[in-house]
Order: sequence, then structure tokens, then C-alpha cells
Amino acid sequence: MQRVVVKVGTHVLSEQNRLSKTRMMNLVEFLATLMDRYEVILVSSAAVAAGYSMLKLDKNILHNRQAIAAIGQPQLITTYNKKLEKFGKVAAQLLLTADDFDSRKRTYHAKCTIETLLKHNILPIINENDATATEELVFGDNDQLSARVAHYFDANLLILLSDIDGYYDKDPNKNPDAVMKKVVRKIDETELQKQNSTSFEFATGGIVTKLKSAQYLLKRGKKMFIASGFDLSDIKSYMFDGIHKGGTLFQRDTK
Ligand code: ADP
Repeated sequence: MQRVVVKVGTHVLSEQNRLSKTRMMNLVEFLATLMDRYEVILVSSAAVAAGYSMLKLDKNILHNRQAIAAIGQPQLITTYNKKLEKFGKVAAQLLLTADDFDSRKRTYHAKCTIETLLKHNILPIINENDATATEELVFGDNDQLSARVAHYFDANLLILLSDIDGYYDKDPNKNPDAVMKKVVRKIDETELQKQNSTSFEFATGGIVTKLKSAQYLLKRGKKMFIASGFDLSDIKSYMFDGIHKGGTLFQRDTK
């Protein structure tokens, strides 16, 4: 069975300062179907959004965001598990940091845990351990963590479900004439140097962290797909019918 990593951003999972039940339900339905055909690992953000309704601290202060994430993380996993139950599936939680991948021993142990969970058709849900690591909480929103997860845990494909339905030649929210790129085989270094652009108050990623993830995976011969997390029809048609309608595929030349 092929292995895929799905990463979902804060913007997709939250709405008016809290988790969006409808979008989570749609996501879980997609994941449950995907789990019948692929080995699936989920990287999920939104712990801060899940915790904010219970402790409304100033999110501009990093330590407050860490505390809110600590409240929100179990809420997030409980919500996933409640929804997965409807499909007869179960989730498990792994909190990792980029540093874990610097240690061969820790990577090995995490990989063994993942292998065992997947063998039993359980959905591993990974998030950054926000109490000790702040890289993704400050900058990245798990885009880069998910690329490492895909590489070290032997997935062929990383799917980023975003508030944007693909990668465009310029920011589509500022340029109505922007054109989506369907397949990207090489990323220009100048694109990676650009400032991150995201306006959403919880999200911290933007397109640059996504391109960095794509670059990381392309260099390692893996694929990445950016699709809308609001409307899952493009990713469903790509994964279930093999038809690439919308969304951007990053894939090296297969010469
Ligand atoms: P998410 O929270 O879903 O992971 P972000 O909101 O962090 O995603 O990043 C996606 C945003 O990046 C888009 O909504 C868009 O405004 C912005 N963006 C800037 N340049 C581009 C581009 N060339 N193509 C697509 N999106 C872009």
C-alpha cells in the first residue's frame, strides 16, 4: 500500500476563533476513505484555534500561544476521534519537533511507532510539540514539519490542504489575473527568498513555507500536492480517480 501524508492548515480547520465542525467532518470523511486505499498519516495544525475559546489570552505573545495550544491539542484530538468513530476508525497522537529528526535514535523510535499504528489501520495525527518547540508555531504552521514527516516516515506524497487551491504565478488574493500552475518540476530559488504572505491571524505559514517543503521533497525524489481544504473535490478526484483537475502537483522530471 502506498503511504501518504496529509497536512491541514489552521485556516481550513478554524472559523471565527474556533474549530469548524463542518470542515473537520468533511476532512475526516475524506481521510477515512483514503485510509481504505492508502496508509495515511495526518499532520494537523489548529491546536491554538481549538484552545482559544477556553482561554482567551493575547495570541501575540508566544508563551500565551503555547499555553493555548496545550489546552487545544487534546480538544483537537478528541474532536478527530469523535468524528473518526463514525467511520470505524481511530486516531493516535504524536507530538514531534524538528529536533527529533536530528536524532537517528528518536527518528527510529518514532518511525517504529508509526509503522505499528499503520499496520493496525490507525490514523497517526502529528503536531509540533508546541510547549518545547516553537518553530512551526512562530513560522511555518507545520508545512515544514510535514515535509520531514513525509521523508523520514517513507511516504511518496505529501498533500497540503490549504486555504488556497493551488500554487499561482503570483498571489491570487492580490492579483485577480493570477494563473494556477498545474505541475511544477523545479522551484526558482528567488521564490524561496520572498517574504511570507499570510493575513490570517492564527496561520503562520504562507506560500513560501509550502515552496520550501516542496523543494525539500523534490530534492529527495518525492511528490507534493497543494489543494483546497475548503472544497475537497480536486484532491478526491486526484487520489481516488487519478484525474488531476485542479491543485498543483510538485514532481521532479521522471526521466
Ligand atoms: P494554510 O493556512 O492553508 O496552510 P496560508 O494561509 O498560510 O495557508 O498560505 C496560503 C496563502 O498564501 C494564500 O491564501 C495566498 O494568499 C498566499 N499566497 C501568496 N503567494 C501565493 C501564490 N503564488 N500562490 C498561492 N498562494 C499564494
